[in-house]
Amino acid sequence: MFDTFKTQSELAKIFAPAGRERALIYRLLEMAKPYADECNIDTLGNLIVRKKGGGRKIMVSAHADSIGLIITHIKDKGFLRFCRIGGLRLDMLLGSSVVFENGIKGTVRREAKAKLDELKDYECFVDIGAGSKEAALKHVNVGDIAVFSAETYTNCGNIVSPYLDDRIGCVILLQTLAMLDNPVNDVYFVFSVQEEVGLRGAKTAAYAIQPDLGLAVDVTGVGDTPEVKAHMACGLGKGAAIKLRDNSIISHPGVVAWLEGAAKSADIPVQREVLPAGGTDAGAIHVSRGGVPSGGISIPTRYIHSLAEMADLADIDACTRLLTAALNTGAEL
Ligand code: ZN
Repeated sequence: MFDTFKTQSELAKIFAPAGRERALIYRLLEMAKPYADECNIDTLGNLIVRKKGGGRKIMVSAHADSIGLIITHIKDKGFLRFCRIGGLRLDMLLGSSVVFENGIKGTVRREAKAKLDELKDYECFVDIGAGSKEAALKHVNVGDIAVFSAETYTNCGNIVSPYLDDRIGCVILLQTLAMLDNPVNDVYFVFSVQEEVGLRGAKTAAYAIQPDLGLAVDVTGVGDTPEVKAHMACGLGKGAAIKLRDNSIISHPGVVAWLEGAAKSADIPVQREVLPAGGTDAGAIHVSRGGVPSGGISIPTRYIHSLAEMADLADIDACTRLLTAALNTGAEL
């Protein structure tokens, strides 16, 4: 069985920004293999793990990639200019520690004249303390990518970690895979690549798998912190979230009913999720080929896309139990 804290801590440390997920994909393959009927890595780099069953073909996707920043230019004094990969917010990034694939670390800073509320990429830089362009080039080159560098810990029943988005989705898929025995449905677990830059991995995986039903397992925002911008019913500690809507999909009513029915039968706490912004792999799956009824199971998470994303351990457990129960329930669409 995959312990939530231990597995998340390990996966969060593996360097896997969008387009550079290889190390993580191979580690996930190693972890999934003992429980799988078939595993393969496709051309784009998605890991597809099948657990055979007799019913509908269901694609369950959690993305392996993360947001990051990519070096565009190295200045004379060794400061690194960058642009962002995925929906990274500069206010979350500023002051953070970041790490490159080779282990070199840096801190993200802004020019003194830059206005905090109108901050632009070109007003920020990474300082690795090199001192000169030549010294910096010994460690980092244009095109190198950095990700957040931070620890995973637990506090007050919550887990705090960089890249709960969406390593925690990967953990939930692994836990479900390990628990499923002769599932009612024919399940394809996809650990997708390049979600953060436009759901790219899920697009090709869904095309190849041709599922009858699609699910994304990913984090979602919450409305339970002070002075939130978006009013959301979702909050920490209220159970697994069943997606009704985000910017990439309006969930199929049959999929929502299937998930709510499975939760009711297995007595799993759930809440409804309407996410005003952002998208998930379900967005790519549901418009694949002639269309795929799709929805999502979401992990309510605070401070998404920061180095200290926070989720409730009981909610994560509810997500795993809901996914397992649903995959063992026939779906009426
Ligand atoms: Zn995500």
